[in-house]
Amino acid sequence: MEQKQLTGKFYDIQGFSVHDGPGIRLTCFMKGCPLRCIWCHSPESQLFPDELNWMEIKCVGVEKCGRCLDVCPQGAISGGALKKSPAGDDIQLVAVDRAKCDNCGKCAEACTSRALYMCGDDYTVDELMERIRRDVPFFKRSGGGVTVSGGECLCQPEFLLELLKRCKAEDIHTAVDTTGFVPWSVIEPIIPYTDVFLYDIKNMDSDLHKQGTGVPNELILENAKKIAAAGGKFQIRVPVMTMYNDSVEMFDKLGEFLLELGGAVEVIQLLPYHSLGVVKWERLGRGPDLTDGKFVDIVPPTDDLMQARKKQLEDMGLPVIIH
Ligand code: SF4
Ligand code: SF4
Repeated sequence: MEQKQLTGKFYDIQGFSVHDGPGIRLTCFMKGCPLRCIWCHSPESQLFPDELNWMEIKCVGVEKCGRCLDVCPQGAISGGALKKSPAGDDIQLVAVDRAKCDNCGKCAEACTSRALYMCGDDYTVDELMERIRRDVPFFKRSGGGVTVSGGECLCQPEFLLELLKRCKAEDIHTAVDTTGFVPWSVIEPIIPYTDVFLYDIKNMDSDLHKQGTGVPNELILENAKKIAAAGGKFQIRVPVMTMYNDSVEMFDKLGEFLLELGGAVEVIQLLPYHSLGVVKWERLGRGPDLTDGKFVDIVPPTDDLMQARKKQLEDMGLPVIIH
């Protein structure tokens, strides 16, 4: 009897990625995350099930089209707000009642404009390896490889382990982008098949970490130490936000902690906050869980501040870049 293959759920697969590890990479974004960061720039990654998205800019309006209204079995779609067409005519957009919607995807199939689309694709390991092999020539020329990201890819641990094993069997460089907020028992098995961990540290103060992400930081810091002790390598990622994690004290603590990891840290990447994720929340018809759907006004750090924090870590002998 043929054995059923493991399936992983992804929300995006991006080729020619140059910010997710060394060289040119194929970054595979998995769905599902245990954190609920209030600044999340990929909210479509947070929940595991497929989710309906709606892009206002692509909707041609219910009078000209309206296919989605006809196919929705839940009656969740109706005529909504008006917008002006480029010619100055009124266009009535659709409104999706998220309380009624069960994410069946029928409206997305009917929407030829791709204003409605589902987020979430299932791949078997074989299917994903087929996609990965297409980019191997770029990996070889650039020193790149595959990055598995999320969401939190370690929330689908069996699939991830099998995928990493298959990549290493074909001599493909592997990076795992993780929050670190997962049990050690799921990290330990992947270490021999992971060339580098892209590891987020969002705040050294556990209370502030919980305020911003919904979870404390102890497990994350503990797992980082264990990965280092087991011979794993890191690119540490720090999203920098004004008045949240940009203080001198916070960066002192961060530097001291990273020095404890010794030679395991290849580089620290400081990522200035940007607000591009807000539009993605709007497509999902919701906002961050921790703030009851309201957007917190997070101020992006200035260039001077980024340079000052970079220098602070460099003065401690750590390798730092600003993304
Ligand atoms: S099917 Fe798509 S383009 Fe047509 S009205 Fe619905 S959302 Fe708009
Ligand atoms: S996903 Fe299904 S239930 Fe939700 S709005 Fe579309 S057709 Fe209706």
